[in-house]
Amino acid sequence: MKMAAIQAIEARSVHQIQSGQVIVDLCSVAKELVENSLDAGATSIEVRFKNNGLDLIEVQDNGGGIPPDSYESVALKHYTSKLSSFTDLTSLQTFGFRGEAISSLCALADFHIVTAQADQVPRANRLDFESSGKLQKTQIVAGQKGTTASVEGIFKRLPVRRRELEKNIKREYGKVLNLLHAYACISAGVRFSVRNTVGKTRNVVVFTTNGNPTTRENIANVYGAKTLSALIPLDLELEFESTGATRRTGSDRVNQILVRGHISRPVFGEGRQTPDRQMFFVNSRPCGLPQIAKAFNEVYKSFNVSQSPFIFADFQMDTNAYDVNVSPDKRTILLHEAGAMIESLKTSLAQLFEAADQTVPQSQV
Ligand code: ADP
Ligand code: MG
Repeated sequence: MKMAAIQAIEARSVHQIQSGQVIVDLCSVAKELVENSLDAGATSIEVRFKNNGLDLIEVQDNGGGIPPDSYESVALKHYTSKLSSFTDLTSLQTFGFRGEAISSLCALADFHIVTAQADQVPRANRLDFESSGKLQKTQIVAGQKGTTASVEGIFKRLPVRRRELEKNIKREYGKVLNLLHAYACISAGVRFSVRNTVGKTRNVVVFTTNGNPTTRENIANVYGAKTLSALIPLDLELEFESTGATRRTGSDRVNQILVRGHISRPVFGEGRQTPDRQMFFVNSRPCGLPQIAKAFNEVYKSFNVSQSPFIFADFQMDTNAYDVNVSPDKRTILLHEAGAMIESLKTSLAQLFEAADQTVPQSQV
């Protein structure tokens, strides 16, 4: 067989393929937009879905807005206001830094922004972009301070992915709500409101938080006071020996990790808790930590065989102790000391549950 000559893939196709790795599903869309709002200093974030996100995912914030001289570049690939050199990466305080999310959304959906800085109000600017990320037009509209990013018809340019999403939309929508619960609970001082419009129903409020100063109150808003009353504080200090992996980074703090949050008492209530009420964070960044989730559930099971716990656990650690830069969607977190850390976690959790086992919850006195 004669092989065809090697040729370059068209730039547009490359952009679409790469964008599909940054934005892999509904969760990626919500995550990127909400993180941009948090990075912009928002204290109020409203997320609106139409048809569970198939028609529209829109995030409105009251953050600082985008400066007019950045309109041309916001949606260009690798343009970011958060990082200018690679060495900045280690001291990074923001969620975003790759400048890929908005550029990817332009490639995969119809995307536009309405944004205003404080001194422009009540005028705002609507920015429409081409799929390449090039600014297509700007238009003056009425608006408040902050930014609204609208994603219509996600994956319309990747038909296979679109069909897959349509087929699994119920499950995908469930996952995106869980993710938004996690952001809403961890973001003390930020008011969240999530709405969904399906068919002809209008503006159904899915959940809201009140801009509370504590994660406890946020959890009460999202999951109800009853869930809250079954929780005990999670407050662990993990200490363990560094292995070669982190010793190389020259940091001596990596072997100390604080775990802060809330967890079910080992004995509590009737009925079954579902595992989707388990949220994990690394330095307040929501992330899936499957090995750690497994450790939590294992230890809990040895105290309460019939239920799985509600878990809200924020792992606070040195930024040298992990790497978020593993996959383009930044969702995989590589913990350099996962093994030693999990052993230490299991021991501390068992001690916590043992102590809690001795005390009778207030509601049952
Ligand atoms: P990154 O977050 O990695 O910088 P993005 O593609 O998500 O990349 O966003 C590009 C830039 O657009 C950001 O660096 C920021 O300057 C601006 N931006 C995006 N969303 C918002 C927002 N909600 N409020 C203010 N600025 C924003
Ligand atoms: Mg971003």
